[in-house]
Amino acid sequence: MTPATATEKKSVSLVNISTEKWPPRHRTYFGSLEVRSPEPGEPYAITPIRSCKGVMDLGDKRIHEIFISAQEIAEDLARELNGDSGEGSFHGVFVAAGPQPTDAELAGARRQLEEFQRRLVAAADLEWERTKNPMFITDLERRAARQLGVEKPWLYDPKPMAECPVCAEKIKHGVAVCRSCGAILDREKAAQYGLTPKRTRRERGDASAETEVAGKPANETGEQVQGVGKQPAPENTDLK
Ligand SMILES: [Zn+2]
Repeated sequence: MTPATATEKKSVSLVNISTEKWPPRHRTYFGSLEVRSPEPGEPYAITPIRSCKGVMDLGDKRIHEIFISAQEIAEDLARELNGDSGEGSFHGVFVAAGPQPTDAELAGARRQLEEFQRRLVAAADLEWERTKNPMFITDLERRAARQLGVEKPWLYDPKPMAECPVCAEKIKHGVAVCRSCGAILDREKAAQYGLTPKRTRRERGDASAETEVAGKPANETGEQVQGVGKQPAPENTDLK
């Protein structure tokens, strides 16, 4: 901890150029603090950060007061908000030298944010090429692509998964048969594809029910058909 000096600024400006909203930050020395995000149309938002007195418990009822400068606190917050998302992680927060960010500071932050977003998009592209599975694309990567305004096949959120009422595995909405436990979830649809409750693969003890389903032409339920049979079901359940 650097000693306080008379020239230490009372308040510094923590600048945020990203519209991301963060949960409040907590520190023992200031309690809870909300870092502002720009409103629509605003290029940035400023959260003023003031210095604090921290208290160190030395034991034996002795305490030691420590001065924590506004600069230190702001830098600590910026580090925390920007970090944690891999190499070059940056989420648009920086400490301005003056009360207002300069054009150069803002341009630098925008460049850094864009570089990081491009890195995320490139990672998502690679993942997509490898798996073609939208489940592997993170929210952070989608947000980066949207903010860069790039069009990507993996950009669209997969439909949220439903839960099989029998085995509680995550399944696609509208599937006729649970691919995990084989329970018939939509009798009508199952019958339409030659699957009846009496002829599930469980009960027949073979895999021909699957083949039957997969063999049908994919029409409006093509997606579901794919989910039931064909390739070994990708195990999506342990994804974030
Ligand atoms: Zn199930």
